[in-house]
Amino acid sequence: MTVSPGSVVLVDMDGVLADWFGGMADAYQEAGGDIADFDLNRWDLGTTGAVRQLQRSVQATPGFYAGLAPIDGAIEGLYLLRDLGATVKLCSTPDATNPTCASDKVDWVANHVGTAWVKDLILTHDKTLVRGAVLIDDKPEVTGAVVPEWEHIIFDQPYNRHVTGKRILTGWGALDTLKENLA
Ligand SMILES: [Mg+2]
Repeated sequence: MTVSPGSVVLVDMDGVLADWFGGMADAYQEAGGDIADFDLNRWDLGTTGAVRQLQRSVQATPGFYAGLAPIDGAIEGLYLLRDLGATVKLCSTPDATNPTCASDKVDWVANHVGTAWVKDLILTHDKTLVRGAVLIDDKPEVTGAVVPEWEHIIFDQPYNRHVTGKRILTGWGALDTLKENLA
C-alpha cells in the first residue's frame, strides 16, 4: 500500500520505539536472574516455570515501562515520518499485568518524543480496530477482532525473522528504504 501525505502511519512502542528487551535484560539481572535464561529468538522469550515467574514479576514492576530507553534513531524516525507528511500515531498495547504501564507509556511519550505527542498515543488491546495505512510493529503477527485496514510492516527483531510476505523495516536508520511508499 502506498501512503499519501496525510495517511495514517501507526507505530508500535515496545520493541520499535522503546527498547523493551534491553530494559528487561537489565531489570532481570538486577533481580538476580541470568539473561542466558532468555531465548531472544522467541517473542515470549521462551521462559517457563520459575524463570518465567521472575521475568513476569520484573515486567509487572511499577515504572518498568517508563524507564525503557529509546531505540536508536526512533525519535528522529518519528519526526521524519511526520515531516514526510504522514499523520503519525503511536499505537501500543498496555501490559495488563503492570499497574502503571498505561501511565508509564504516556510519560514515556512526553519525556522522549514530546508532550504534544501524548495526544497521538493510542492505547489498545486490539490494533486491528485502529484505522491506518500502515502499522510498524515488531510482533510477528498482529491479530484481533477484524481484518485490519493497515499493512503490517515488520520492525526487524531476532524473534520475527521467520516472517515472510511482509515488508521489513530493518531499523530506524533504514527508513529511507520505505520512504517512497510512506509519503
Ligand atoms: Mg512491540
